[in-house]
Amino acid sequence: MRTKTQLIHGGVSSDPLTGAVSVPIYQVSTYQQEGVGKHKGYEYSRTANPTRAALEALVRDLEHGHRGFAFASGMAAITSVMMLFNQGDHVLVTDDVYGGTFRVMTQVLNRLGISSTFVDTSRVDAIEAAIQPNTKALYLETPTNPLLKVTDIRQVAAVAKAHHLTLIVDNTFLSPYWQNPLDLGADIVVHSATKYLGGHSDVVAGIAVVNSEALADRLHYIQNATGSILGPQDAWLLMRGIKTLGVRMEEHERNARRIVDFLGQHPSVCKVYYPGLPDHPGHHVARTQARGFGGMISFDVGEADKVDAVLNKTRYFTLAESLGAVESLISVPARMTHASIPKARRDELGISDGLIRISVGLEDVEDLLEDLDQALSSH
Ligand SMILES: *Cc1c(COP(=O)(O)O)cnc(C)c1O
Repeated sequence: MRTKTQLIHGGVSSDPLTGAVSVPIYQVSTYQQEGVGKHKGYEYSRTANPTRAALEALVRDLEHGHRGFAFASGMAAITSVMMLFNQGDHVLVTDDVYGGTFRVMTQVLNRLGISSTFVDTSRVDAIEAAIQPNTKALYLETPTNPLLKVTDIRQVAAVAKAHHLTLIVDNTFLSPYWQNPLDLGADIVVHSATKYLGGHSDVVAGIAVVNSEALADRLHYIQNATGSILGPQDAWLLMRGIKTLGVRMEEHERNARRIVDFLGQHPSVCKVYYPGLPDHPGHHVARTQARGFGGMISFDVGEADKVDAVLNKTRYFTLAESLGAVESLISVPARMTHASIPKARRDELGISDGLIRISVGLEDVEDLLEDLDQALSSH
């Protein structure tokens, strides 16, 4: 089954009881048992729910994994995956990781004795230099947020294997439509399904897919024990969104390429970050490990005061956190998504105050180009 077909027919694509072509929302907490412990696979919805199970089977198929799990948010998925580790363990994390991941590692998990070091994972020598005797996992985001730095997943998977580290990849930015980290050697893939998988800015959800039965058993134990599950309504909404993931990702990318070309020639823009650009440092790796470059673009307008002029003028790019939805969004990483990262650290990473990030939506690209042109030219 090819990917676009899998989006429609993967997992459990209909209701076995009635033949309904959309899996129903099983709005239920508990299930009748014929005798003690004798049931149809469902006893309590924290443990398993048929709507969530259908979504979990679908994302397992899309990420070519052994088993999928749906959580209440991307952060719930990431935190649950981190619960696989123990007090005293150490994790290596991509340096310009999503701000919420940085926060949970440095403000919450550290208190439980799970320590982390942030490294430029696009450099294998930097990873190897940072491995400690107690390092148990490598956590990657590629492309990263907001600088779109690319890590070679195959190369890092070889390092992880040599050092017996669990390789976890946050695949939010490309979605399984463009990139499948498990095929490249990762052990676990996580998603903020709030973004491209959902795609319509109407659901907050998280996904984890694992590549082995052993990891599946351990993660299911954690999901059931700690309980940060996705509810049936949101699981259904997510399946609805996923059906159109293919057409959306194709169109996000087509629009993004036009906007990248436009920004590259605009006198008010000093730098454009997009992995599809041949001069992007990760361009070659991106081409070999992913089927597309995605719909996220960052660009630098130099000074912080120019940023506000642009933000105040755009009509179709809505000022908002988040990304990956049908509507185009614009944000200032330094003051929004990455505000929880200290300024000194942001400067080190290159997340300047003049950096603007856009999530290219599915509006007519001519309107998006006109909108950016008037916003950039008016100061
Ligand atoms: C948004 C995001 C998260 C967190 O997901 P939530 O659904 O907001 O909890 C994690 N990683 C990346 C790359 C994200 O963009």
